[in-house]
Amino acid sequence: MQEPTSQAQAPTYSVVAPVYNEAEGLPEFYRRVRAVMEGLGETWELILVNDGSRDNSLEVMRQLSAADPHVRVIDFARNFGHQIAVTAGMDYARGDAVIIIDSDLQDPPETIPALVAKWREGYEVVYAVRNKRPGETWFKLFTAKLFYRIIYRITDVHIPVDTGDFRLMDRRVVDAVINMREHNRFIRGMTSWVGFRQTGVYYDRDVRKYGSTSYPLRKMLKLAWDAVTGFSFFPLRLAIYAAFVLFVLSVLAIPLVAVLRLATGEQLFEGQATAITVVLLLGSAQFFFFFVLGQYVARIYDEVRGRPLYIVADTFGYEDAGKPQRHRIRMTQPADPNPPSA
Ligand code: UDP
Ligand code: MG
Repeated sequence: MQEPTSQAQAPTYSVVAPVYNEAEGLPEFYRRVRAVMEGLGETWELILVNDGSRDNSLEVMRQLSAADPHVRVIDFARNFGHQIAVTAGMDYARGDAVIIIDSDLQDPPETIPALVAKWREGYEVVYAVRNKRPGETWFKLFTAKLFYRIIYRITDVHIPVDTGDFRLMDRRVVDAVINMREHNRFIRGMTSWVGFRQTGVYYDRDVRKYGSTSYPLRKMLKLAWDAVTGFSFFPLRLAIYAAFVLFVLSVLAIPLVAVLRLATGEQLFEGQATAITVVLLLGSAQFFFFFVLGQYVARIYDEVRGRPLYIVADTFGYEDAGKPQRHRIRMTQPADPNPPSA
């Protein structure tokens, strides 16, 4: 077994896994990660982020970290959500390469060597692309497919389809992503946005053996909406299309009604029912755009409040490494090498 890393030397690999109510599966997850990482023959750490679990996940994690100094635990003060837990793991990770993986064993740790191989070839982001997704409902498969394709069409970054957060990132990419402190985070999009050399590796996603999904439809919609608003102004632009269509209709409507009335000799389109229908339709369109506008304003509010992304209650497994640190966060951008001339 490799010597655990000390403060002086950062490990080669940091495996980051968010944990929310995974007590049952965690021992197996740890065993499989350890087997794979030991097989790679380089230094590594496993960072488990406890995202406010309500079962005894924390206790299991503490035991794992007490028994193996590779295991470090970041314990959140409450549930902050999957994307934030992954961010915290990236903040604390010290490795030259960081691997993000779900702790529910749906992302098989045995795929990691394939990711590492591509990294060794020189790719800075290696994402795992889902081949098969057994045991998922057709509804989840359908909505996931639709989601990836819509995002692909309307956003300015090309987020690869059928990938989750399971991926390997080079230190340079991790540094770039953790310096983006936006609150409504869509990490897949952010890793695509930073650029660098990216490639994919196919894998078969496993069924969840223990526990149950904590991504109900509500959370999936929130993530999808974060992706859309975080990377595109398309919903705002919709308003101009609606304005254009309604304008053309209104210009055409008067002559059209006049011609129809003359041709048929009947009083077409008269009365309250027509008016009410049109008013309701326009009202709903207007409220829709209030909503869209409000969503972008709310996100601005989230940013200007400047709250931290998460609160850490405790950390475990840092006895050998000194004080746990969030790594290399620069709060200011590096100096612009080509400043505009005055
Ligand atoms: N997770 C988390 N915080 C949450 C919800 C989920 O840290 O609020 C973790 C969870 O433990 C798992 C991963 O995120 O490791 C993916 O969650 P889940 O399996 O519920 O989502 P699905 O795979 O069904 O999309
Ligand atoms: Mg899962």
